[in-house]
Amino acid sequence: MLFRVTLRRTALFAFATAAIGGLLLAERLAPLRRRTRKQLPRLIRNAAMGAACQAAIMVSEAPLSNAVAQRNARRRRGLQHGLGGGIPGRIAAFLAMDYGFYLWHVATHKAPFLWRFHRVHHVDPDLDASTAVRFHFLDMVLSTPWRLVQVRIAGIDRPTLQWWRRFFLASILFHHSNLRLPRNIDAALSRIVTTPRMHGIHHSQVRAEMDSNWSSGISWWDYLHRTYRARPPQYAIAIGVDDAQSDRDVPILPAHLAPFRMAGDRKT
Ligand SMILES: [Zn+2]
Repeated sequence: MLFRVTLRRTALFAFATAAIGGLLLAERLAPLRRRTRKQLPRLIRNAAMGAACQAAIMVSEAPLSNAVAQRNARRRRGLQHGLGGGIPGRIAAFLAMDYGFYLWHVATHKAPFLWRFHRVHHVDPDLDASTAVRFHFLDMVLSTPWRLVQVRIAGIDRPTLQWWRRFFLASILFHHSNLRLPRNIDAALSRIVTTPRMHGIHHSQVRAEMDSNWSSGISWWDYLHRTYRARPPQYAIAIGVDDAQSDRDVPILPAHLAPFRMAGDRKT
């Protein structure tokens, strides 16, 4: 049993490593947007910020979410178990988690206090797979209470939650990537999941463009709320945040101090 679990984990890890390596290579071979900065310092910085986020998740969100998910299964509560706990219930719980994240993402843009932290992610002047892990570690902690609400309402059990996490990680790496897919394939995929072209528009400095394409996994939520946007083309997008401090807040230390300065607030 232990051998089978170890084998499965090793296979998943090998698959994830190969997929991430393939993605990093592909976005270099077929770039979607022109890069504006030196890549190596960006990659190192984003990876370091990602490691801090992973540590924060491991001590806050993950154990608490797992505990709520276990209780969901024990007490047979929430959407998943309300629908019988079988495949339809698991799919509904998975979608509910994904929709909950759409709502959270909108909140991180609309609530000035949350935007201070989410802005650290958007300040990256280039957008690629490394941006997917560039967050303020406190952003991970701040999202924990809402994540617990998501897990409780979805009634998701631990195995299904684990699948949603894997899907979510794959999705954020994919849609932040600078991978130029054939236009028709990107368009077809965007009917179901968030694509690099979709998310590139969300990282625009232009407010109306940034206030669109908030989905982070399944893209249906943007169609549902009429926040889906297919234009402008990627070459016309200036990636980043249009405020006087955005350049200063790119490096690690200023990025982590930025939320505690007043100047990061969005003009509403
Ligand atoms: Zn955002």
